[in-house]
Amino acid sequence: MKKLIKKKGIVITSRDYKESARMLTILTPDGLEQAILRGANKINSKNKSFAIAPVEVEYIATTPSPLSTFTEGFILSNYTQVKMDTEKSLLFSGIAEKVLMFAENIDNKTQFYDFIQSILQQLEITHHPHVVLNLFEIKLLYLLGISPILNQCMRCKNIENDYAFSVFFGGTICSSCASRVGYQLDVTETKIWKYLYLIKMEKVDEVFLELIAKSQVSLDETIDQYYERYMDFTSKAKQIIKKVS
Ligand SMILES: [Zn+2]
Repeated sequence: MKKLIKKKGIVITSRDYKESARMLTILTPDGLEQAILRGANKINSKNKSFAIAPVEVEYIATTPSPLSTFTEGFILSNYTQVKMDTEKSLLFSGIAEKVLMFAENIDNKTQFYDFIQSILQQLEITHHPHVVLNLFEIKLLYLLGISPILNQCMRCKNIENDYAFSVFFGGTICSSCASRVGYQLDVTETKIWKYLYLIKMEKVDEVFLELIAKSQVSLDETIDQYYERYMDFTSKAKQIIKKVS
């Protein structure tokens, strides 16, 4: 028999499903789940707002048999700015793509949920949304267990104060190694990466994001190369973001 379960989740994406329904993909504190939202495509449907991602909801769903049905919901965060602002909504597609791709690789599902919730809150209020995307991408590498090493030379193991960053060596390299083997980020750029990596999510605020934005450092190329090399992942969303910006 079908049982009803009350849950909390963030709708990451939705697509058309049979007879005016939508299939929602929802990130919950237990990982990614799918639920059918009936009638969502009908003109006067009051359910429509649950299908426009991103939206954080508390909802009641049937246990999967085999598919789960979203029966009723209550909106916790609508992320209106993320939907209305063209740049934010484009950058969200870069976040959504990686959430869908990597959520199952992360063991601590509750921590991942809290992380995404806090990233979306920042994206909603910030004037520097691109920094939030980079913050998300760099911290996600840590959750995936493939974060670069940032406190020694990954080539000769020397400890120094300043480093460059090499995708090939999986982290920082010292200046004498850097001059021999090449690098992707110089000393200043590497520091920006480190700031984004080290800051705790609860400490992230507009002052911090503005400081990073003002440095004018672009980490996108290096982040994308890192995901390609260590996750074998090429981001379609990032290619579109690059074209537009
Ligand atoms: Zn070295």
